[in-house]
Amino acid sequence: MPEMFSAQDNDVLICSECIEQGHKILMSRPKARSLNSEELTVENLPTPQKIKDFLDQYVIGQEEAKRFLSVAVYNHYKRVLQEITNDDVEIEKSNILLVGSTGTGKTLLARTIAKLLKVPFAIGDATSLTQAGYVGEDVETLLVRLLQDANYDVTKAQRGIVFIDEIDKIARKSENMSITRDVSGEGVQQSLLKMLEGSVVNVPPQGGRKHPDQEMIHVDTKNILFICGGAFDGIERKIAQRMHTQVIGFNAQQEAEQIDKENILKYIAPQDLKSYGLIPEIIGRLPVLTYMHPLNREALRSILTQPKNALTKQYQKLLAMDNVKLLFDENALDYIVDKALEYQLGARGLRGLMETLMTDLMFELPNKKQLGEQQVFTVTKDYARQKLEKADYVRLRNAV
Ligand code: ADP
Repeated sequence: MPEMFSAQDNDVLICSECIEQGHKILMSRPKARSLNSEELTVENLPTPQKIKDFLDQYVIGQEEAKRFLSVAVYNHYKRVLQEITNDDVEIEKSNILLVGSTGTGKTLLARTIAKLLKVPFAIGDATSLTQAGYVGEDVETLLVRLLQDANYDVTKAQRGIVFIDEIDKIARKSENMSITRDVSGEGVQQSLLKMLEGSVVNVPPQGGRKHPDQEMIHVDTKNILFICGGAFDGIERKIAQRMHTQVIGFNAQQEAEQIDKENILKYIAPQDLKSYGLIPEIIGRLPVLTYMHPLNREALRSILTQPKNALTKQYQKLLAMDNVKLLFDENALDYIVDKALEYQLGARGLRGLMETLMTDLMFELPNKKQLGEQQVFTVTKDYARQKLEKADYVRLRNAV
């Protein structure tokens, strides 16, 4: 016969068997931590292969960058999530630098990783930053955006990802330039340094300039992953120079022949960044260095249709809401890619071209909506040509 219990000042009775059962249920629950199901744990952290598979769904090509990024991100979060151990091995932080022309998918890669891991994400532009005390944005503004994306949950923000674009634009102009005269370059690099390596930064909650009596939010950047991107125009010359001096001598002829001259960026090394004007301390804080391929015709063509949220799929979805089935002829897509190449608009331009092409349709088709009846519209090459020729080239360029 089970014994009955009652809590003090409470007229509810519970028997000993129920208490035992209840205890068993509570103990058998998976680790009762105050985590919500979406939070990253060592158990649910995707492996590098899984990260890459996810990236493949959104980003065309860029195999090397994806592999580097997947491993770096995996290691970063392993480091963040590791239980505190007593050994002396401390895993160092591995921020990432992606080098490649604009519109090749650098931002897209960073954004897609944040989406997979469901961590807060912020994008900033290095050109808008200045060193403290000068007109422009302080580096802390990058963290304000991250906090906003995390809904001001500081713990969450401290595990987020910050993408800093155009890091090449804060290179100092010449390797020997004096620091005092180079406000926009080396000064900003110095300001970024502390944040990249991990420090507690005082962030003004609303952004903007720091104010003496303003309350600050303290954000520890130790576990924030920084991904930097830059086009580094002309760095190929520095790489080639370095490689040329390296190959002179023993077996020079043979080695020089093996160099893939078409794709010199793949040989990028930290010393090239130094000759470009990044300070060695910054280079040291961006240990994962990888490059992006320029997008060729085939890649641009795939970008139109293959990624999970490919442009053509987006327009199809929009028009499906008006009960329109939208189709694209293969040669219409080829034509759009030709135009993107001709105007040198790259992947960034595909969107502008598609928007120009689709505007009239998106204006007119909803008016023809008839109850229950599905309309079908096929974008042909002739239709595409007619719309794009009508559009003004200057306007298209500016749209990018
Ligand atoms: P970057 O940061 O290198 O300047 P983005 O990532 O901002 O370039 O790319 C601009 C747009 O071009 C993206 O929104 C995306 O639609 C498209 N894009 C660029 N590269 C790729 C790619 N490799 N795969 C799929 N889409 C791409």
